Amino acid sequence: MDLAFTPQDIAFRDEVKAFVKANLPQDIADKVAHGKHLVRDDHMRWQQALGRQGWLVYTWPKKHGGPGWTVTQRYIFENVCADMNAPGIIPFGSKMVGPVIYTFGSEEQKARFLPGIRESSVWWCQGYSEPGSGSDLASLRTRAVREGDHYVVNGSKTWNTMGHWADWIFCLVRTDASAKPQEGISFLLIDMKTPGITVKPIIMADGGHEVNEVFFDNVKVPAENLVGKEGEGWTYAKFLLANERLGIAAVPQSKRGVDTLKQIARSETQGGKPLIEDQDFRNKLADLEIQVTALEYTELRALSAMAAGGAPGPEVSFLKIRGSEIQQRISELAVEAVGYYAMPYHPALLWHGANEEPIGPAYAHIAAPRYFNARKTTIYGGSNEIQRNVISKMVLGL
Ligand SMILES: Cc1cc2nc3c(=O)[nH]c(=O)nc-3n(C[C@H](O)[C@H](O)[C@H](O)COP(=O)(O)OP(=O)(O)OC[C@H]3O[C@@H](n4cnc5c(N)ncnc54)[C@H](O)[C@@H]3O)c2cc1C
Repeated sequence: MDLAFTPQDIAFRDEVKAFVKANLPQDIADKVAHGKHLVRDDHMRWQQALGRQGWLVYTWPKKHGGPGWTVTQRYIFENVCADMNAPGIIPFGSKMVGPVIYTFGSEEQKARFLPGIRESSVWWCQGYSEPGSGSDLASLRTRAVREGDHYVVNGSKTWNTMGHWADWIFCLVRTDASAKPQEGISFLLIDMKTPGITVKPIIMADGGHEVNEVFFDNVKVPAENLVGKEGEGWTYAKFLLANERLGIAAVPQSKRGVDTLKQIARSETQGGKPLIEDQDFRNKLADLEIQVTALEYTELRALSAMAAGGAPGPEVSFLKIRGSEIQQRISELAVEAVGYYAMPYHPALLWHGANEEPIGPAYAHIAAPRYFNARKTTIYGGSNEIQRNVISKMVLGL
């Protein structure tokens, strides 16, 4: 793996920078920089700009409409976007269901669904988890019964991220209750406007509305929306989860998080000196930065193996574990750095245009909400305990 940038890579980096500068609306960059909530339209404006450039599906091969970038180009793109405060790309379409459709879907499904994902004209969400079926996903009970040319779906999904903004949901459903748990599962694409679907909010620890419960009450889904073969949904589900875990490492965002922590530590004081000069805090920062760098190299190794023809394998569980722990550590050190200023509860300040005066410096009031919100990182995408089980079985052979 050669990590030195070639002149072409440097030219590419300049091209990405110029594109982001010209196309990322300033109001969105400001919200990201200051940790404000984003609304659907913010994500759509940015993703549609990327879509027009052909860059939204930057991990896709050329034959499916992606730019066919090298691993290095993807790395450069992700880092430039994070550095310039672009919102993270919502992964459900471009990084999750899109690759499932172009790998396992029919020609009709590719023609029908891939353009909307490439352009970000359609918002997708993920319907895997259910009450009682999270880690033990294969126990899921949402039923899809074939009746003529459609399925009738009944059941519920939970922890569904951004489903209140979604046009479509990809769902794991049970089509055969008598088969072994993994063998009776199928992968269905469902229009969120179909009668019988209800979305109810779950409010997060930071007060934000990010996740939902989704209920299916006799929902009629055309049989042509089944991806691949009935009963083989588990194979497609696992393929998708490996891609999901790779993205969750969020290395560029963590690098930015470390930079922000340094800025805070330069502004805050401890014992009459800038916090950045406090030896104890410096050690913690240095430790964190080393961990982020080590994770970055581990991710590059995984990407490099994929570029050489491999698929993301069980080793992406390492990335998920370390990436999520690092995100939590950043949020913990931010709370430590701002001290008492983390205590006031001001959810309104997380919205753009709030006219309340923050108590303390502008970076302080987001420290506690981010800390609470970051608890999710070791749970979603398969909890870290489950990732450790995957490593022990699939990587270490225990
Ligand atoms: C913010 C957020 C967003 C999410 N978004 C989505 C989404 O969009 N779509 C979707 O389908 N799902 C989503 N999820 C669901 C997520 O994938 C599940 O929460 C996760 O898989 C854990 O399942 P669970 O919540 O049912 O916990 P459980 O499976 O009940 O686990 C509870 C605890 O027991 C531990 N545990 C369970 N089994 C084992 C075991 N065998 N060995 C060791 N420890 C074990 C777990 O690690 C955990 O600590 C989201 C979750 C969160 C928190």
